[in-house]
Amino acid sequence: MKQTYPIQCPQCGAEQEAELYDAINVTEAPLLREALMNNTLNQVECPHCGFAFRVDKRLLYHDPERGLMIYWFPGQESSYQTNKTEFLTAISALNAALPDEFDPPTVHLVFSRVELVERIFLLEAGLDERVIEYIKHMMYTRNLEKLDPQAKAILFNAQDSNERALCFVIQDLDTQQLEGVLEFDREAYEGLVAMFDEDEKTSTLWDLFPGPYISARSLLLEATS
Ligand SMILES: [Zn+2]
Repeated sequence: MKQTYPIQCPQCGAEQEAELYDAINVTEAPLLREALMNNTLNQVECPHCGFAFRVDKRLLYHDPERGLMIYWFPGQESSYQTNKTEFLTAISALNAALPDEFDPPTVHLVFSRVELVERIFLLEAGLDERVIEYIKHMMYTRNLEKLDPQAKAILFNAQDSNERALCFVIQDLDTQQLEGVLEFDREAYEGLVAMFDEDEKTSTLWDLFPGPYISARSLLLEATS
């Protein structure tokens, strides 16, 4: 689903109109998933100076075949709270408009392209986003000196994960550089999934990460602010 938007070139300042995606259905158009992964989705080339740039805008990622819906709501950390509220309002309006016999779909919320890509891989791998964020939470709290959530992000890395271990990378948020790798035993992950499957424990996990934005880093930052 594309719409035309007025855009200003960040290089030469020229005003122009650009066609950008508001939503993509990657079951119908798998090439759009590739474009997102290759960082070319919603890329614009300025007709005046030739500069190519990516426009970060709200985007609904929809993969009906896998039953995935993820909403990317780009924003600075300072606007997360407002964006969460706006997202919840839109979702409840959407759910209210559904006929009674429809179960409201789960729509994941992310605030950056990196989080969107991470979430797609995580869900495609059949992993539970709350358990993954719980693991990150443990990684942060056990290494607070080295892993300051203010300065470092921990990202799940699907490509390097295998049957033995889940792989995470540490990213410095100032430099955007990847600085190290952390592994988490896959059996220990399965153990956590089984543990949180018990009713009483499930509520602990949901209390920790009620949503709609599920992020260990954000949780830790909220606790210190
Ligand atoms: Zn330009």
